[in-house]
Order: sequence, then structure tokens, then C-alpha cells
Amino acid sequence: MAAPHPIPIPVGAAPNAAAETSLEYLIRTDQLLAVRRTVLLSIPVNMLLGIASVLVAWQSGQIRTGLIWFGASSAVNLLRIALCRWPLSRSSQPGGYRNWSVDQHLRRQWILSLASGAVWSLIPVLCAGYTSPQTLFYMTVVCGVTAGAVTHSFAYARIPICFITLPLLSGVGCLVYAGGFDKYCLSLTVLLYLAALIRFSREGEALVRESSRLKYQATTLSQSLEVARHQATEVAEEMRYRASHDALTGLLNRSGFLDEARRRLQGDASGLCLMLLDLDGFKLINDAFGHREGDNVLVGVAGRLRQSLPQSFTVARLGGDEFAVLFTIDSTSRPEALAATLIAATAAPFSALDKGRVGVSIGICKPPESDIDDMLVYADAALYAAKRGGRNRYYVFDDELRAQLEMRRDVERDLSKALAADALEVWYQPILAQGGRTLDSFEALVRWDHPKLGWIPPADLIAVASLSGLSEPLMRFILKDVCGMMQTLQAMGLPHIRVAMNVSPREMAQLAVDELILAKLKKLDLSSQQLEIEITEETAMDIHAIQGKLAALSAAGVRIAIDDFGVGYSSLGALRQLHVNRVKIDRSFVSGISRSDENQALVQAILNLGRSFKLDVVAEGVETAEDLATLQQLGCPAMQGYLLGRPKPKHEAIEWITRLRPPEAPYAAGMPGPELRVATSPFVEVSDDTPTLQ
Ligand code: C2E
Ligand code: MG
Ligand code: MG
Repeated sequence: MAAPHPIPIPVGAAPNAAAETSLEYLIRTDQLLAVRRTVLLSIPVNMLLGIASVLVAWQSGQIRTGLIWFGASSAVNLLRIALCRWPLSRSSQPGGYRNWSVDQHLRRQWILSLASGAVWSLIPVLCAGYTSPQTLFYMTVVCGVTAGAVTHSFAYARIPICFITLPLLSGVGCLVYAGGFDKYCLSLTVLLYLAALIRFSREGEALVRESSRLKYQATTLSQSLEVARHQATEVAEEMRYRASHDALTGLLNRSGFLDEARRRLQGDASGLCLMLLDLDGFKLINDAFGHREGDNVLVGVAGRLRQSLPQSFTVARLGGDEFAVLFTIDSTSRPEALAATLIAATAAPFSALDKGRVGVSIGICKPPESDIDDMLVYADAALYAAKRGGRNRYYVFDDELRAQLEMRRDVERDLSKALAADALEVWYQPILAQGGRTLDSFEALVRWDHPKLGWIPPADLIAVASLSGLSEPLMRFILKDVCGMMQTLQAMGLPHIRVAMNVSPREMAQLAVDELILAKLKKLDLSSQQLEIEITEETAMDIHAIQGKLAALSAAGVRIAIDDFGVGYSSLGALRQLHVNRVKIDRSFVSGISRSDENQALVQAILNLGRSFKLDVVAEGVETAEDLATLQQLGCPAMQGYLLGRPKPKHEAIEWITRLRPPEAPYAAGMPGPELRVATSPFVEVSDDTPTLQ
């Protein structure tokens, strides 16, 4: 068997014609190499037997014929040696050999083998056709040399078969020609011997080919396994990259960032600073320019961040329009200066936005924090402080924010218990109509006097409830109280005094607000016209998410008001689509309106808008008699504010109404509700214990 040689082996798991051809070629090559080795081994024996035959011929007086025969035999043997030594240089083709192909080599081998056999078939010339006394010697030599050829060259059956057939057939022919029973028997025996040798050669070749095939299949298999292992490693690498990187910008994604941050914090965590960046008004960019341009802006921002920051800084896109930068503070990288650089870099015009600009707000968490989750919470709080501060600016997490966060944590921890124990309250603030002269409705405002922290700002309460999954129980609690107030008003003969309930953007998005409210009204048999819900402009911006809910409420008769109107971006179209009945002008435009021409113009514009669109307009935050007078001059129909009535607990609000109600106008069932006249400035009692939360 030939030793393995460095022939490139075609790999490929699926058996196909090309692979089969290549495998056949390799097996043939193995056969050829085995043949070359064994032929070289057998030729010396062949020569020795030839010499012995010449000697016997000399002794029997046939020296001349013997020498001619030996000359022919040697010539063929020399050609066979030369053929076996013919160089087999490898070609550039896989498994191929230059000059002659493997098959041609094998063909030449069997042709020379046939020639050698032909020379040996002439042996009868030296022994008078196997009749002389030397017959036994020559017959034995011919049988020996043929047996040797088969044993040596079984790797490729055609070679021994070509060699043995002629000598043995010539022997058979001579024996038959000589005649006689014993000769016939002997010739038959030689024929059987020939058949046995041919069969042995064939089986030998089949064995050689099978073992060669197995060898190559094993090699191919191991190479396939190697390739598969390599591919699996590459796929695993790719998956790891994809799992840790953002496909759009190529930056680390949230999970990749967290892994990297934990790795950095495990080493030398001192001096690590985290910045969270959030683009200002990115949703508007997406709405106005489409998502593709929005994506281009994100890619552009990512590129600018990378260019503005050293390589050692970890930069990531955490999702949406939120980016993070983690770095070690040193003399060259002051967080405040870096934040200013990043704001400036982001502010350059974007071609994707027709040279429009994008703002970014940044929250910074400075050392010495050592837990990435805490750092993210702190930087996030700072980011929102930056947004509240007016956007396109940075804010460093400080003690004030820390106290606020701690408060939120306490609120989060205690809120569910407080809800279960009915420890929260709903207070009611009057909204006055007819320029502040008659009672129009009440706004329900949630209140919680936390045992340790005191009065919790409702905005914080609502936000914490949303984060801790308590929005629904909180809303159910408020709705129950609001319905109770509606029932009381009804019982007092004042079903036309509405109650307004605030619904935050998150509540609107997370809860089936319409189903919740309508089911409750139905259960208590309350008129939906007595209820109003207040949503902010922020909520109104996501029209698609809320349109269905508002349509259902409006269709049932619930009134809809836009709260804090003027600070957001709600369009006039949105007001129509959302079935809005009322807008409440934000306090920031109302407080001090008597001294601000600009605010007067703005309020005037909103009042005009209200008239054209048949919308009710309420001015929020009326605190002074001067502001009230200015609003009355401008023709503002409805208003709300500390001057006109502070939020108060339900029983106080009821007492207050009782005092307003003119005794001469008792309520008669089925009649329109009485007008509740309110004395104008100086107005109503302001109790000192009423919490002022804003
Ligand atoms: P809002 O809906 O705009 O409510 C009016 C806020 O202005 C109330 O603050 C009220 O106490 C305050 N306010 C009324 N008149 C004056 C005034 O003349 N001067 C000043 N400085 N403030 C005045 P409050 O109760 O702290 O509520 C703040 C915000 O929290 C509310 O703004 C509303 O968005 C939210 N909120 C309050 N209660 C609830 C609630 O039950 N559910 C939801 N979802 N949000 C609520
Ligand atoms: Mg409100
Ligand atoms: Mg408001």
C-alpha cells in the first residue's frame, strides 16, 4: 500500500459527480504508486529466474536461444524499471500529475507487463515445447514467476493478469500439442491455476481500492469536520458581534455596552464617567422626514461622536435616539467640556435634513460610582433634568437629583401598600366659567401625604406608578373617587358640574383607558357627559396610539381637554382628530399676564383659535387679581387658579359648593342645574394647610 502523499483532497460534504471523480483519481494514484513500488521489487527476482533459465538452457545446449531470450527479457525489464522511475511531478490541478496522467502511466505499466509476459511465454522454445527433460524446471519457473507477479502487483489487477496470461496459455498450448493423458491433466491444472491467479488479482485490487477509498473518505471527513468547525467558529464570532453591536451605526448596543462597562469597572474603576445622550425632538424628525432620513441622522450622529472622542472611549447606541459614552476622566477630558464639544458636534447641519440641525441633551454621572446600573440611573436622571432645563444642554447628576431619586425609590416601595390601604386622596380644584363668575367644573388632582416624605408631587407619583406597574390600580383608585364626586354632585342636584380627571401620556399608552372608564360609568349608572379627561399635548402628539381610545370616549359623551396647551407641539389638525372640546392654556402663559404683552398676544391667539374651532378655552394658574382682570378683558371664558380656588379635599369642596348655592334657587329634579355664582376677588378662603405642590 502506498504511503499517504500530499495530494490536495477535494472537500465537500455532499457526494457529487465531481467529488466522486476526484476520489477515483486519488484511488488510481494510490494504485499506481503501489504498482511502481512492487514492480521494482519484483524485477530482480524476475532477472534472477531469467539467469537461472539461461544457465539451464546453456547446460541443455540451447545457449544461443537462451541468451536471445534473456536479452529480450532484460530489455523489457529495463523499460519497466525506467517507467517506474519516470518522474511523477505534481501539476497545479488538484490531484493531477504533469506529463502523463495517472491512467496513462497505468496503461504503459500493463502494456510493458504484457510485453514481459510475452517474453516469458517463449520459454517453451528452450524446452522443446515442454517435452525436454528440463520441462519440470521451466514449468516450475514459469509458475513461480507468475505467482510472484500476482502476489507483488495485486494493487492493479490488469498488470499481473497481462503478465501471467500469455506464459501460462503458451504452456497449456504446448502441453495439449504434446498430447497424452498426463499432459492434458497438467494443462487443465495450469488453466485452473491461471483462473485462480486472475481471481486472486481481482480480489486483491478490490481490497486495495476499498482501503484507499476508506482512507480518503476518512481524510475528507476530517477535513470537512475541520471546515465545519471553522465555519461554526466564524458563525459564532459573527453572532457574538451582532449580539453586541448595533446594526445601524456599528457602535456597541446596550448589551455590548453593559458587558464592556462591567469589564472596565472590574479593572480600575476610579475616574470612570458615564454620559447619556438623547437627541431632542427626534420623533419629529422621523415624522417629518421619514424613517430612512431618521436612520441617516442616527448614523451621522454616531460618526460625529466617534470622531470627536478618543478611541479609548466606549461609545454605544443604547436604542432609539439614545447614546452612551463611558470614559476615564483625566487632565485632557473634563466631562463638562466634552459634553459641550459633543453638543456642538451634533449641532452641525445634517444634509439628510436639508441642512437642518439636531439638538442633543446630555446627562452626566461623574465618579466615584462603581456600579453600572446605578450609573445609568443617575445619568438618566441628569439627562431628564437637562431636557427639563430646556434641551440641547448637559446636566451633571448632583445631590438634588440624588435626593429626588431616593424619594422616588421610597415612593416606589410604599405606593402599592398605600393604594391597598386607601392612603391616597383625590382633591378637587374648581374651574370657573363666565370669566370666573360661575362654577363650571372640578379638576381631580391626586394627593399622597407620605408618612416620611410628606406631600408627593403628583407628577412623580404618576411616573413611579408607571415604572412599577401600578398605573392601573392607581387610575382605578382615582376613577373611583371621581365617580364618587360625580354621584355626590348629582345627589346635590348639580349634574351639570363636570369632574375632570387627568390621564398621563404613559397611562394613555399603557392602559385601556376607554374600556376602564366606560365600564366604571356604566356600572355606577353615571352620565358620561359629567366626566372630562385631560390629556397633555405630549399625549396628543402620538395620534395613532390614542385616537381609537379617545374616539370611543368621545362617542360615549366624555369630554376631552388638552392640558398645558401651548408648551408642546400639537397641531390644529390633531385637535380635530382627537375630538377635543377644551384647551387649557398652560400656567406659564397665564402667570403675570397682566405685565406681559407677549403672553397677552399669545392668549388672545388661543382664544381666537377656540372661537373658530368652537373649543372651550380655560386659563390655568390665575394667581392674582391683575391677571384675572386682564383675562376678563381679553374675553377668556373660563379659568382656574389659586386665586379662584385651591385644590381641596372632597368634603371641603362639597362644603364650598354648599356655601355658593343660592338658597332661593332650590334644585328641582329634572330641571337644568342652577348657576353657582362665585364672588370675584378677593376670593375664597385659602387654608394654610392646603399643600402647594407647584
Ligand atoms: P395639571 O393637570 O396641569 O394640574 C394643575 C396643576 O396646577 C395642579 O398641580 C394644581 O394644583 C396646580 N395649580 C392650579 N392652580 C394653580 C395656580 O394658580 N398656581 C400654581 N402655581 N399652581 C396651580 P398638581 O396637583 O401638583 O398637579 C401637577 C400635575 O400632575 C397636573 O398638572 C397633572 O398633570 C398631574 N396630575 C395631578 N393629579 C393627577 C392625577 O390624578 N392623574 C394624572 N394622570 N396626573 C395628575
Ligand atoms: Mg390637568
Ligand atoms: Mg395643566
